[in-house]
Amino acid sequence: MLKLKSIADSEFGADDYFEFRFQLLRVSLWVAILFSGALILADWLGINHQGDIHLTSIEVFFLSDVALAIYLGSRKDRFVIVALLFLAAWFLVNVSALYFLTNNEFRAIWFFVLVLVAYTILGLSPGLLATILSLVTLAVANKYLSAPFSSNAMITMLFSLCAGSAFLYSYTKRFAAYRQHLKEANKQLRDLASHDPLTGIRNARAFYEDSELVARQALRSEKKYSVLFMDIDHFKLINDRYGHEVGDIVLKEFASCLTRNIRETDLLGRIGGEEFLLLLPDTDMAGAKLLAEKLRQKIEELMPLIGETRIPITTSIGIAVSQTKQDSIARLKQEADQAMYQAKANGRNCVATLAD
Ligand code: GH3
Ligand code: MG
Ligand code: MG
Repeated sequence: MLKLKSIADSEFGADDYFEFRFQLLRVSLWVAILFSGALILADWLGINHQGDIHLTSIEVFFLSDVALAIYLGSRKDRFVIVALLFLAAWFLVNVSALYFLTNNEFRAIWFFVLVLVAYTILGLSPGLLATILSLVTLAVANKYLSAPFSSNAMITMLFSLCAGSAFLYSYTKRFAAYRQHLKEANKQLRDLASHDPLTGIRNARAFYEDSELVARQALRSEKKYSVLFMDIDHFKLINDRYGHEVGDIVLKEFASCLTRNIRETDLLGRIGGEEFLLLLPDTDMAGAKLLAEKLRQKIEELMPLIGETRIPITTSIGIAVSQTKQDSIARLKQEADQAMYQAKANGRNCVATLAD
């Protein structure tokens, strides 16, 4: 069970995936700043000329990337707008290169990289949009270039852009489906690890884990909380008389009867065969006794119907209430358990506390 839990906890969850894309955007921005900065420097130093107009485009791109990187900072809520603006600025600088850097035969390659980044950072639709815009721009712009690409080169570019984009599209789509599947499988794993398969309520481990949280909250707010230990009376007789399967049905009915009659904030767990623990936050002894008596009655009235027969069941309930600020779930469980034995000794089908 613990192993199941650790597998479930190692989930590559939605947040991890978003975090990855967020970091990728930050890195992409800084790489763009670095590259465009290097191109500007190379131009200034006379190593590699961009031409006046395209140099201005690169300078604007450089400054807008710096502004976007600062604006993004670590603000997750700005992710989409910054990513869109970054890709738009990048697209424009690519168009500028297409028109004003005509001596560079490889300038169209940047459209491919842009499409790749759009798919990776923003997903399917932005990736597809970047592809369509790039295809149309390349095809239309070629007519107006002072040194156009040959029709062979253009067809190669357009086809390879389509093929690359189709590959990225199906990969991104499949990846999204896998993630969804993984999320659902992880949810099932978590449920399996924390729920009792027969009754569907918390198992012992989940009960103790959740109740520690409640105890800690109670400590902070200095409020009392109560623990009820419930044990079905003469359950062995039910198994012996009607069979184990009927016993299982009784356990299910017992658990759902309790669930129906408690608050959503109360914690219910099956901690053993026919033993249940109920933790009542913000509840003192008077409140706990009232609820315990109500539950005892509901169980007595339940009379689960098995085939044609109604089976009478009763439960003995022990109560313990937190005393000091430092009280622990373990001590309360022990006290409630002893009180439950007191209820058994008092003739069963009753509620008891150690104070009685
Ligand atoms: P008491 O009133 O003193 O509590 O008597 P009891 O018969 O309920 O107590 P005992 O502890 O002797 O018996 C508990 C029985 O619960 C024995 C065990 O076979 C049965 N049991 C435990 N887990 C399950 C389960 O998952 N399904 C079924 N059908 N029976 C179970
Ligand atoms: Mg028992
Ligand atoms: Mg019992």
